[in-house]
Amino acid sequence: RRTPDIHLQDLIDGLLSGNRAFLSKAITLVESKKAEHKKLSAELVNAVIQHEKESFRIGITGVPGVGKSTFIEAFGKMLTSKGKKVAVLSIDPSSNRTKGSILGDKTRMDELSRDPNAYIRPSASGATLGGVASNTRESILLCEAAGYDVVIIETVGVGQSETVVKDMVDYFLLLMLAGGGDELQGIKRGIMEMADHILINKADKDNLKAAKKAREDYKNAVHLFPPNDAEWTVPVGLCSAIEKTGIDDAWNEIDNYAQHTQMNGWFNENRRRQAIKWFHERVRARLEEDFYSKPNIKEEIKKREELISSQKISVRKAVDELFS
Ligand code: GDP
Repeated sequence: RRTPDIHLQDLIDGLLSGNRAFLSKAITLVESKKAEHKKLSAELVNAVIQHEKESFRIGITGVPGVGKSTFIEAFGKMLTSKGKKVAVLSIDPSSNRTKGSILGDKTRMDELSRDPNAYIRPSASGATLGGVASNTRESILLCEAAGYDVVIIETVGVGQSETVVKDMVDYFLLLMLAGGGDELQGIKRGIMEMADHILINKADKDNLKAAKKAREDYKNAVHLFPPNDAEWTVPVGLCSAIEKTGIDDAWNEIDNYAQHTQMNGWFNENRRRQAIKWFHERVRARLEEDFYSKPNIKEEIKKREELISSQKISVRKAVDELFS
């Protein structure tokens, strides 16, 4: 048997030293579907989790065009100027189906990507959102092991990816626009209710007045939401990613949240619950994978479909046979 060309200890050492090339290699490994890589990546993540440093995980979402990449660039540069190390990971569910993903095709965050204290990893891809999410969770742990203090998970606010991201971050930031007419612009109420922070972007030039009006509307909307576990009043703010206004204020709010939830215990409790939930999700996924990878399973299923169609066998019997 061929020995894998990845030496685990070198990878661990390189990662823990904060080397970006090793971090990229490690993330590629956890995204790999090859059986030998899966085994290695399980050992890798297990080895570095003990070195996990203090970090803050921020999910950022919003519809395409709201200004996510412009905002993350400005926000990320502000953080690195404060001496923080920032990693940006993207989840783009569209990248599985179409070649050009919503997030991937532009030159994004050009300035931030050249910052030695920033690391940007383009969209993860995978067969299922659950699979992508699992990779991303492990990638977060790898970024933290490599010394990144702030990990940003970016997602397009159009699908179910928000719930998945909410379950892996400490803080969920929703970027919105001041839209004429339909103020909710396709962002579902459920997504708004998940947000720890609502920021109205493009609050500049001719748009400023509308943005201020939208802020009042969202403040009223947020007021009616059920209280959250963090015992946190969701701030509604304005920013301009292009003019770089409101970026510092956003970070101050995030910092307030971090302190507030450290004090009331929610920060640790939330991470604990997330890990337990993830564990159960992976057990379920693993059961399914194992079942469908049994030899001849496709033929066995097909055979039973025919028997069920011609009413020669009950569904329960067919299921029992597949598991016997
Ligand atoms: P994304 O699809 O959410 O990542 O959005 P982008 O960051 O690519 O921005 C979409 C468009 O909005 C680009 O043309 C940006 O230049 C513009 N944009 C982003 N932020 C602002 C802002 O604060 N003010 C204004 N006026 N335009 C912005």
